[in-house]
Amino acid sequence: MKEAEKSNKFGVITPEVLNEIKDAVSAKNVYTDEADIESYSYDYTGKIFAQRFDVLVKPGNAGQISALMKAATKHRIPVTTRGAGSGLAGAAIPIYGGIVLSMEKMNRILEIDPVNRAAVVEPGVVTNDLCRAAAAKGLLYAGYPMSTELSFIGGNIGTNAGGGKVIRYGNTRRHVLGMDVVTASGDLLHLGGKYRKDTWGYPIMQLMIGTEGTLGIITKAILNLEPLPGKTVNLLAAFPDLDSMVVSVAGVVKSGAKIISCEFLDRLSAELAAKYLSTELPYQEKTEAYLLIQLEADSDEQLEAAYEKVGGICVEMGAMEVFIAESRTDSNAMWQVRQNIAEGARAEDPHASISGDIVVPLSEVPRIMKIIAAKCKAWNVVTANHGHIADGNLHPLALKPKDMTPERWAVYSEEFYADLIQEAVKLGGVGSGEHGVGCVKLDALFASKSPAELGIHSGVKAAFDPLGILNPGKLTAVK
Ligand SMILES: Cc1cc2nc3c(=O)[nH]c(=O)nc-3n(C[C@H](O)[C@H](O)[C@H](O)COP(=O)(O)OP(=O)(O)OC[C@H]3O[C@@H](n4cnc5c(N)ncnc54)[C@H](O)[C@@H]3O)c2cc1C
Repeated sequence: MKEAEKSNKFGVITPEVLNEIKDAVSAKNVYTDEADIESYSYDYTGKIFAQRFDVLVKPGNAGQISALMKAATKHRIPVTTRGAGSGLAGAAIPIYGGIVLSMEKMNRILEIDPVNRAAVVEPGVVTNDLCRAAAAKGLLYAGYPMSTELSFIGGNIGTNAGGGKVIRYGNTRRHVLGMDVVTASGDLLHLGGKYRKDTWGYPIMQLMIGTEGTLGIITKAILNLEPLPGKTVNLLAAFPDLDSMVVSVAGVVKSGAKIISCEFLDRLSAELAAKYLSTELPYQEKTEAYLLIQLEADSDEQLEAAYEKVGGICVEMGAMEVFIAESRTDSNAMWQVRQNIAEGARAEDPHASISGDIVVPLSEVPRIMKIIAAKCKAWNVVTANHGHIADGNLHPLALKPKDMTPERWAVYSEEFYADLIQEAVKLGGVGSGEHGVGCVKLDALFASKSPAELGIHSGVKAAFDPLGILNPGKLTAVK
């Protein structure tokens, strides 16, 4: 958050500039009252990271965004694009104030195209709405962050969201075929299309993915759809200790079964989510770690063979029991617990820090689990650990010590995560797998990259956004 202190590089929104903004996007799409804009000053990272800004705009089309960017360029006003604000790294927080550009009105699914297996959507479409629309046509949109009911497609692209199906289908990058982008100076680019091969120049579209709205504003996306999976089943394996759970994962991944998901929850994660949902997972009293595994096969016989094999591996490695979801209700109950860990933690502790998102090679998962435990002791922090374990992506969710102020905790928790990030990097990993860098992990990013690499970052930023007005203070330092 140090970046925000070095402000005064940007223009001021005078009444004249405000009129130009209203001319660009239509007055009815412009909000300045505190009551209307306050909830856009922070994201899911927490209110404690809120930053004041001047104007909220909710445009209805790319033409308005282009006109807005021309005005913002003329007056050097920062513009921070916002999806649903479900981000866990403060990427949508307008740390230099100025304009917040909410995409919530651009929420139409324009086309589901079965021939090209593609969807064309506006960026404000909720992820799960696209999943449902695709399923209705017998297709799968495979992006599946645990926030699928909340997050927008534009935000998923802005963060290169991962989630529960990455092991099978890859992260959001794999699903983006094309997009329309408004640049910092207001030009409209058409990048990619309804095809899957492209060596036609620099891959500019790829640079828009996962770069947190710092290089352009996505106004339309063309997304890859997959055939719907055949038969699927969910298994819940209950382990008496973390070690046996961890060794099972490698066995499950190389079992040869078609694994769609392999998610991990430790005891505290399961307890927090189950309490929040007023439910209980099987064997909850005795279980230190669960694996939630989703498998796919072409026929009932193959599916049975797959779950026998995968369940057998878990038992061999020490699982006390492997539960098979017999119905859609059982499956939903298991996934509800997995999806509600953050909500459960926030219900218990409103200041719980949810931004932990380290990644290590799968072979280093046992080591990083031990390091997390040791660091928790050293920092006197309790974490609820969970994550997309087959991707080596862990979310240690840190609860605020009772005697610490929320202000101190906002800094302390990020210092704690920065320490874990260093360990993940030493093991050949990275500091964020899917939540992004935002404003909360910027210093940790700078600390982990070489000057040469950071120089290239700055060069890329300058090529797209010479005045540095797009989401300033994210991914590169403000010059
Ligand atoms: C309970 C919970 C569970 C979660 N689980 C996961 C998970 O499993 N996997 C995962 O990856 N994430 C997860 N997240 C984090 C979050 O939901 C994702 O990062 C999501 O992709 C953010 O989408 P959003 O629409 O809320 O974006 P926002 O938070 O609003 O914005 C995120 C970034 O994208 C940029 N952006 C938004 N729209 C555009 C656009 N149109 N053009 C350019 N840039 C844009 C913003 O500027 C910002 O930098 C979870 C969050 C919660 C609360």
